[in-house]
Amino acid sequence: MEKNEIILKRQRSAELFEEAKQYFPGGVNSPVRAFKSVFGPPLFIKEGNGCRITDEDDNTYIDFCGSWGPLILGHNNEAVREKIVSTVARGTSFGTPTRLGNELGKLIVDHNRFIDKIRFVSSGTEAVMSAIRLARGITGKSKVVKFEGCYHGHVDSLLVKAGSGLATFGESTSAGIPESFVKETLVLPLNDRKALDDTLRAYAGEIACVIVEPVPANNGLLLQDASFLECLRLKCYKYGVLLIFDEVISGFRVGFEGAAGYYGIQPDIITYGKIIGGGMPVGAYGGSHEVMSHISPDGPVYQAGTLSANPVAMAAGYATLQQLLAPGFYEGQEARTRRLVDRIQHYADRQGYDMHLEQIGSIFWIAFTRQRITRADQIDPAGMEYFKKLHRELLLRGVYLGPSGYEVGFVSAAHTEADLDQAAAIMEEALDVVFAQG
Ligand SMILES: *Cc1c(COP(=O)(O)O)cnc(C)c1O
Repeated sequence: MEKNEIILKRQRSAELFEEAKQYFPGGVNSPVRAFKSVFGPPLFIKEGNGCRITDEDDNTYIDFCGSWGPLILGHNNEAVREKIVSTVARGTSFGTPTRLGNELGKLIVDHNRFIDKIRFVSSGTEAVMSAIRLARGITGKSKVVKFEGCYHGHVDSLLVKAGSGLATFGESTSAGIPESFVKETLVLPLNDRKALDDTLRAYAGEIACVIVEPVPANNGLLLQDASFLECLRLKCYKYGVLLIFDEVISGFRVGFEGAAGYYGIQPDIITYGKIIGGGMPVGAYGGSHEVMSHISPDGPVYQAGTLSANPVAMAAGYATLQQLLAPGFYEGQEARTRRLVDRIQHYADRQGYDMHLEQIGSIFWIAFTRQRITRADQIDPAGMEYFKKLHRELLLRGVYLGPSGYEVGFVSAAHTEADLDQAAAIMEEALDVVFAQG
């Protein structure tokens, strides 16, 4: 069959999307799912097994979205499923402490040198929101520093981007956020020590915390110089400002101890989400005994949740994290991802395609330039047109990437070398089509 004649059957998905529009704004319950920046209606997925997902039209894809990061073991992992099923059989929620909660808490704290105590919540957003409140409660200060190109969930005061005027003062990226909230947030460029130092020197007396994705992976993959992160740590100590690592993606992904372990940097508070719940809704934040003693009921910073540490979610998290502790797990993830990335990169180089792949552990991102990118403003929006075409060509051939060029890809433990070779071959074919069209 000629390449141009490959047609993706998505009648059922298209119908379901039309129906969904009657019930949900834009037909979705989270905006990027609507496929606004790629071709066609969103695929309605009915099943996932290992590294593959199947849509309502019975097309199957090798999946690199992994439910946006949580599924580090792939879809429908047997041990995780069995633990969920046996837990559900005894009821779904009690609103009391449970042994399962202890087990997951112990597993994490025992294997993470960077936190002494943890508090479970139900999403990454909730973890970040609580961490910010904690930082403000401890320091008695109100301003927050964030970096352009880092995403921290839909927390009001963090839906802020760099403003057009004075670099440090932001503007909101969503309607419905009071000007007074925006004023509490200072926005800096990533990987820029001078901007950081200038801001801390000028405003340290008002700044409660600096929050950063140590592995920024929500706006491309903007890998930072280790020296920048080390400098950030030292400057926060120097100016009496708390440092929050938002590890909702990097936690349990770039290593069991996340980016803190990867870079050997001790933040004051760490937030988790995604992988920690093994595909169920869980978030968490943690820190030292001292830091965590400020949280209610021990301390004055209030934070609560009806479904916090839900036993079914705890079971899924435990069954997942336990498998990550197997010797060589992360080395294997890194090696298989490296092989995929190298193969595609070699092909692109041979063909003279203007692109490169960024990678850390089992996270990768395709940039449509050869330059290394460490800041959000270095991403050329024109590259997104290439991504849009690539996404279409990949779907036609059976590879699923998150539906935006700003999203990273995730390799799971269920992607075998054979799966990755198949995906690489498809990727090469798709790139030929995209670059032939220019
Ligand atoms: C996904 C994400 C969040 C938000 O988590 P939700 O569970 O979607 O609320 C926060 N921070 C980072 C770094 C994330 O990747």
